[in-house]
Formats: sequence, C-alpha cells, structure tokens
Amino acid sequence: MTKLSAEEIKRVKRLGFLHDKNTEDKFNGRVITRNGKITAEECSAIAEAAEKFGSGEVTVTTRMTMEIQGVPFDNIEPLREFLAGKGLDMGGTGAAVRPVVSCKGTTCQYGLIDTFAVSKEIHERFFKGYGEVALPHKFKIAVGGCPNNCVKPDLNDVGIIGQRIPTVDISKCRGCRICQIEKACPIKASRLENGKVHIDLEKCNHCGRCMNKCPFKAYDNYTTGYGIYIGGRWGKQITRGKMLSKIFTDKEEAIGIVEKALLFFRENGFKGERFAQVVERIGFENVEKALLSDDLLERKNEIIAMELKEK
Ligand code: SF4
Ligand code: SF4
Ligand code: SF4
Repeated sequence: MTKLSAEEIKRVKRLGFLHDKNTEDKFNGRVITRNGKITAEECSAIAEAAEKFGSGEVTVTTRMTMEIQGVPFDNIEPLREFLAGKGLDMGGTGAAVRPVVSCKGTTCQYGLIDTFAVSKEIHERFFKGYGEVALPHKFKIAVGGCPNNCVKPDLNDVGIIGQRIPTVDISKCRGCRICQIEKACPIKASRLENGKVHIDLEKCNHCGRCMNKCPFKAYDNYTTGYGIYIGGRWGKQITRGKMLSKIFTDKEEAIGIVEKALLFFRENGFKGERFAQVVERIGFENVEKALLSDDLLERKNEIIAMELKEK
C-alpha cells in the first residue's frame, strides 16, 4: 500500500486509532469502556475484534479504555462497524472530553457514593453529549468513591469524590478511656482532649470511617455528599485541583457542576490552554462563583455556538 499521509494519520487519530510508530500502516484502536466496566459479552466482542481485525492483542490504558493492537489501516472501518454493532464506541482522543475514569467505589468497602452510576451518567452526558463540542484542550474527569483518591480525582480537570460529613453531638460523649472514634479515624482528625472527643474540622476529610463507631451515639449523624475538585492535571505540568467549598448533597447538582465547568472552560479558555491554567489565570474564587451560579447553564446554547478564543 502507498505510504499514509500525515492528514490521514491525523484523521483516524480523531476516531481513536493511534499510529504504531514501529509500522508503516498499523494502528492501535481505542475502545471506550464508559466507566471501566464492561459485560462478558462486550469483553468477548473486543477479543473477537482483536483476532479478526488486529494482532490479537489488547492493552489497557490509564483512562480505562482498551486498545486493540496492530490494526492495519484498511481494517479500521470494518473494526469500527463490528464494534458499533456490539454497542461499543471508539475514540477518546483530541481536545474534547476524554474517557471518564471511575474507581470501584460502588462495591469497595470504603466507597461512599455509587461511582459506577455517576461516571456512567457523566459518560453519557458529557463524553458522548459533548463529543462534537470543540474545547480549548483535552478535558479529563474522574470519579472516586472516597478520600483514598485511588483514581486521583484531584489530578483531573474535574474530579468528584464521595464524602460523608459527620455532625458530632458532643453532649453524648462520655470521654471513654479508649475512644472508638479516635481509634477508627485514619488521620486522627478526631481525638480525645480533656476528657471529651474533639474533631478538627479543617483536618477531617469526610471519609466516614468513624460512622456509627461511638457506642454512645455521639457520631451517628452524617451527610452524604459529593466533593468536587477543579483545575487539576498530571503530565508535563502538575497542578493539584482545589476542592470547591460547597459539598453537594444532590447528585444532579454535582453532575451539573461538571457541565458548568465545561462551559466555563469553553467560554474562557484560549485554544491550547488547559483548564488548570484557566483557573489559575482567572482565579479559583471567580471560577467557583461562576460554577455555583446558574448563568452558564442559562447561556449553554450561546456558549456552545461561539468560536473558541485564540490567544
Ligand atoms: S477511592 Fe475509596 S472507594 Fe474508590 S477504590 Fe479507592 S478506597 Fe475504594
Ligand atoms: S466519642 Fe464516643 S467513643 Fe469517643 S470518647 Fe466520646 S463517647 Fe466514647
Ligand atoms: S470522617 Fe474520617 S477523617 Fe473525619 S473524623 Fe471521621 S474518620 Fe476522621
């Protein structure tokens, strides 16, 4: 076959096919797993596709996609068609919403929210829903079940984490010799001081590990919520995202923040600028204020229709 042009290689990259630098015409095709969870049937379809259209090998990427290796250029379209018939999409590259990463918080002993459900909804609404919306740069979203941060939500453009916020009834504390709360708290945010339990609210990361551990019910009231980090990134440059001051108790409101962040990024980011840089340039407090108001969603159509800003 004739040598592939740079334009052709770029075109198929947008479809999720990354050129294998060791070959003239072979590509690795990225299959989207939605949130890292696929059925046995989908798994078989990916294996069958790898045998039929690629080298028979599959690799797993850091953003939970599965890449079918060694796909000749002429097999790209038949492979896409085959997987589409099994309900599987390919893609996940470019200046757009990238595949959503989720931890197994739904089933993990420490999980405080249904991470698979939240990340699947984000996948449908923003990975797919904003699939055709050009952004200034790539935009990564991660959903974690608890402050253990296994999927590093704070190093994504937007990261959601499950939270359990204790409301302590100090009047019930009897100052036990061994405080069960102090024993349960992994970061010692709660400890006995002068015969009573004391919680350091600055230190408490809302992991909920102390929940129902007090025999006298001083720690029995908790609010379930979603914490949201914005402006993180990990790569050539590293920025730790900062958590919004509000903990969202409503799932819809929390997911709405992701959409507002996307719209804010689209409206304010310069082409080639990461969200972390936008947050730094405009100021966290100003971005937070915009995300907590309804203005961005009210102007959604206008923002989506506008041209991206050139620097
Ligand atoms: S972040 Fe928490 S809930 Fe998620 S896998 Fe890690 S320990 Fe489990
Ligand atoms: S918080 Fe509960 S377990 Fe801890 S000292 Fe007070 S009563 Fe005892
Ligand atoms: S929620 Fe977690 S960090 Fe906060 S006091 Fe309880 S165990 Fe400690």
